[in-house]
Amino acid sequence: MVNKAMADLGNQPSVIRAIFEYSLKRKAQIGAQNVYDFSLGNPSIPAPQIVDDTIKELACGDSVALHGYTSAQGAMPVREQIAQNIKDRFGCDASAKNIYITCGAAASLTSTLKAVVNDGDEVILLAPYFPEYNVFCANAGAKTVAVLGVGENFSLDFEALDKAINKHTAAIIINSPNNPTGAIIPESDIIKLASLLNKKSEELGRAIYIIADEPYRELTYGDDVPYIPNFYNNTVVCYSYSKSLSLPGERIGYVFVSPHCDDAEDLFAAVCGAARSMGYVCAPSMMQRVIAKCDGMTADISLYNKNRELLYNSLSEIGYQAVKPQGAFYLFMKALEDDANAFCEKAKKHELLLVPADSFGAKGYVRISYCVAYDTIKNSIPAFKALFDEYNQK
Ligand code: PLP
Repeated sequence: MVNKAMADLGNQPSVIRAIFEYSLKRKAQIGAQNVYDFSLGNPSIPAPQIVDDTIKELACGDSVALHGYTSAQGAMPVREQIAQNIKDRFGCDASAKNIYITCGAAASLTSTLKAVVNDGDEVILLAPYFPEYNVFCANAGAKTVAVLGVGENFSLDFEALDKAINKHTAAIIINSPNNPTGAIIPESDIIKLASLLNKKSEELGRAIYIIADEPYRELTYGDDVPYIPNFYNNTVVCYSYSKSLSLPGERIGYVFVSPHCDDAEDLFAAVCGAARSMGYVCAPSMMQRVIAKCDGMTADISLYNKNRELLYNSLSEIGYQAVKPQGAFYLFMKALEDDANAFCEKAKKHELLLVPADSFGAKGYVRISYCVAYDTIKNSIPAFKALFDEYNQK
């Protein structure tokens, strides 16, 4: 008999995917250039040249070795290289025995969650958050507890966090730079959070992990992103090359269990076991070799910065309210009515495809994904203006 919960999940695309599917249909009807699709976070900038050069070089080498299985955790030289880079870039203690190479951040997160969640556990999500966290947590058997940020940038609400943490709290997921707001959590807040979690862990007699979901770490426009393991011992970093190297379809990333976790060895074994139980062994072997050469590099993100400036400045000038994103490639904008779904339906009539933020845990906002061609943004501005005028003529 079919598992109903899984069939339901398979039959319901995410809101983002549903809008993307609509955009494909609409583009076929009226021409791609006439649809302003801001739905998906699919990088629009080519991977750096070294990625293609490395693939070509590898393809000319020993094919059997290249396409064969590696160790379940990933090839040792690649794990060593990643650990060395973590040490060099962040001054953080790291070794290959704490690195598990995965199929992107999604696999890193599902493996880590399954590794730290036990029966009856809860995971705290900082809203607004990436909606798939709900699916990943459910898969691990965890109940999610959303804590909405405060102020226009959705900063950490320490009072609400204090209340939300209890004897069932296994972990808190942090995503900075954030999808969907583009906000970066400043060092002062990380220090405060670490102190709160240490106090609560002590009081409750259990480790509370920070799961640092970092696919946007390198996508920043001037601000620093604190490296969480340097501030809090019980940290697991879930990294992905999907956005930094523009390789989302290649499915490659890693889990880094901080060696300073209370039970680092057991925890790493649990990550290996969780990944194994879900079939995430031996991430794509050619891509493992590619990232060994390209870890820490980025695609040309100055192009996203150009998009950010144009979009933010144009929307502000029209009269929309948004906070300028500090990183990633999303802009989080206040809808012009309380019901963001209704606002997005009206936007659709202007061929603007925006994502209502209800499923991100924040009502009354939309996410605009600006990893698109510069001209798409430029050409969409009259449509944004017409939408604004439609509301303001009433
Ligand atoms: N976490 C966040 C915040 C994301 O935005 C995404 C993808 O958009 C993921 C995780 C999943 O990344 P990956 O494609 O590497 O699995």
